[in-house]
Amino acid sequence: MINLDMARKSPVAKTIPALRKATATFRAAGETVALVPTMGALHAGHLALVKLAQSRADRVVVSIFVNPTQFAPHEDFGTYPRTWDADLAALSELNVDLIWAPGATEMYPDGFATRILPEGPAKAGLEDAFRPHFFGGVATVVAKLLLQVGPDIAVFGQKDYQQLKVVTAMARDLDIPVKIVGAPTVREKDGLALSSRNAYLSQQEREVAPVLHQTLKDVAGHIKGGRKIQDALAVGRAQIERAGFSLDYLEVRHAETLAPISSPDDGPIRLLVAAKLGRTRLIDNIGV
Ligand code: AMP
Repeated sequence: MINLDMARKSPVAKTIPALRKATATFRAAGETVALVPTMGALHAGHLALVKLAQSRADRVVVSIFVNPTQFAPHEDFGTYPRTWDADLAALSELNVDLIWAPGATEMYPDGFATRILPEGPAKAGLEDAFRPHFFGGVATVVAKLLLQVGPDIAVFGQKDYQQLKVVTAMARDLDIPVKIVGAPTVREKDGLALSSRNAYLSQQEREVAPVLHQTLKDVAGHIKGGRKIQDALAVGRAQIERAGFSLDYLEVRHAETLAPISSPDDGPIRLLVAAKLGRTRLIDNIGV
């Protein structure tokens, strides 16, 4: 016997009127709504966000939109992996209630003229120092997604830790009535954080990639063991470069404000790293 439920595909909205119609039905039934924003190329990390969202709300909307405004001209917008059929199958299997998949002109129609320029955590000197256009693009598209879907909660991964802080501040500052929820990073067995960009790694690079997470753990261990933060960072930076990465940053920051800190007494600590392996840029972070 065919299980019709298994074969059911999640509904897809591609226009704002179709999206509003679907979310209005949820609202009319008194149901709560969670949004999980993604750029597609879904992996188990994204699906963990979906499951967390399902545990927190009656209905889950997953957006899939590769946002051109968060890529610089030299970055990988054109080659970013697009795996629509597999994404649709994975979300359907989880019974996601709605997939919001606008085209670029639905999101940015002719004459589009408004941009959010986040400060605070968006100017922490981490990702913003290497991708100056990035958080403006992210904040603007996430504000639009939140206003389009009108969710009660929106789930973001701690994998993109600075982004989580930027989005949280943006929603608070603009009085968008949503709770931003951070979800833990899902990793491969060897510690490498799952990322759509891991698909760019050669076999040899893939073998080296876990050094990033290993180094974060080592540096955290040194700090917990009482070593001076700057000394622990120097050891970590050398370890990453020795493995063949080109390091953008390895930093210790206050876990909430992202301000630099020099002693563990200055507050909860987050260790953040970004480095290139060949042409692939990887980021990761852990709490200490
Ligand atoms: P992306 O489509 O890669 O921009 O990511 C969409 C959402 O998934 C963001 O909130 C990311 O932080 C989150 N995410 C990406 N990778 C992971 C991971 N390995 N574990 C948990 N969340 C993740």
